[in-house]
Amino acid sequence: MIKKSEKAFQEAVNYIPGGVNSPVRAFKSVGGTPRFIKRAKGAYLTDEDNTKYIDLIGSWGPMILGHAFEPVENAVRKAIKSSFSFGAPTVKEVEMAKLICDLVPSVEMVRMVNSGTEATMSAIRLARAYTGKNKIIKFEGCYHGHGDAFLISAGSGALSLGVPDSPGITPSTLGDTLTAPYNDLDAVKRLLETHKGEVAALIIEPVVGNMGCVLPKEGYLQGLRDLCTKEGVVFIFDEVMTGFRLALGGAQERFGITPDLTTMGKIIGGGMPVGAYGGKKEIMQMVAPSGPMYQAGTLSGNPIAMSAGMAMLKHLKKHPEIYAQLDETGAFIAEGLRKSVKELGLNYTVNQIGSMYSLFFTSEHVVDFKTAKTADIPAFSKYFHQMLNRGVYLAPSQFESLFLSTKIDKRIANKILRASHYSLTSLVEE
Ligand SMILES: *Cc1c(COP(=O)(O)O)cnc(C)c1O
Repeated sequence: MIKKSEKAFQEAVNYIPGGVNSPVRAFKSVGGTPRFIKRAKGAYLTDEDNTKYIDLIGSWGPMILGHAFEPVENAVRKAIKSSFSFGAPTVKEVEMAKLICDLVPSVEMVRMVNSGTEATMSAIRLARAYTGKNKIIKFEGCYHGHGDAFLISAGSGALSLGVPDSPGITPSTLGDTLTAPYNDLDAVKRLLETHKGEVAALIIEPVVGNMGCVLPKEGYLQGLRDLCTKEGVVFIFDEVMTGFRLALGGAQERFGITPDLTTMGKIIGGGMPVGAYGGKKEIMQMVAPSGPMYQAGTLSGNPIAMSAGMAMLKHLKKHPEIYAQLDETGAFIAEGLRKSVKELGLNYTVNQIGSMYSLFFTSEHVVDFKTAKTADIPAFSKYFHQMLNRGVYLAPSQFESLFLSTKIDKRIANKILRASHYSLTSLVEE
């Protein structure tokens, strides 16, 4: 039953563009009515019509410990008693900064912002200020928030809606963003040769989540690190999605790579709007008021958001075994899906690392934007709705990674696999 969601959506489209405050929430690429969620607990979402779903998006990343996680809830309850924002420094911000620098060793100094988008926009400005160069390199299908410089061959909602290059961006901005295919080191080498001495930064999702889950090839990230060092390019890991998810120290810990700057978001706020960028002291000291690169925020380092994020990070730090558990659940689901598609003769691709995974509706090995786009979108859309009807809430797009939380145990994982097998079976029988 989706009566209440339908009514809410009909009203929403009159007042909010597309009825949603972020395009990825719409069901535009899969069809149908988005479910309006009224509450969530643990592994489950509940919509306005009281239907429960196993949640595989986790608010697009933050809910790694499941919904309404008690230590986070308690920290927020305690914090709100002292007012919501002061516009003056708090000791919580210092504690948060120290915690981040402790968990992510490449980060020697950090600035808090309010979203991943703010983090990446600021990191790029900082890299330009630091190098005195203008151009940046990004990768096709990677998403770094909705800053102008990044909406070129962008992933996530932009890709799902078929608008990877948004209108409204000036030709000069377009000209300063160079793009290369993911997992192709030679393409970056060529760009750096053609634009020698012009490139300020190279920004990458170390594991891509925003064209579906795509892993870096062996040696690829190290190759980029070496190129950036050689050419004096600021190497930025956008860990808004992977930070505190693929390991306590993010993808950089998992792959043993040291970027110059790191952007963070999602998990860092425990579900509150938080982002951060940080890295080498020498670069970070360019940020105002210690240096000339201007960046500010009325609500940045907000005490309620800091309390939520810190409760989350502290719990993760205290229980590092969580990452082994998430790896195990992820591998279990990926194996189950591979077995299922093979049994049904579908030959689809499953990409997985830790608690991130995607089932791609293609037999191609998905390593970049081009191969991701070979997916059969109509088939995915049918599968999406089959899964939803069976009580599993997937990302409403083929081009998004799914996210597991610690609340997805073996029993729930088996439920997901069964729902998936039946959904795929009905596609085959059609
Ligand atoms: C979600 C995301 C962003 C943008 O973060 P917002 O908080 O949505 O602005 C940037 N980079 C990556 C890799 C992301 O996944």
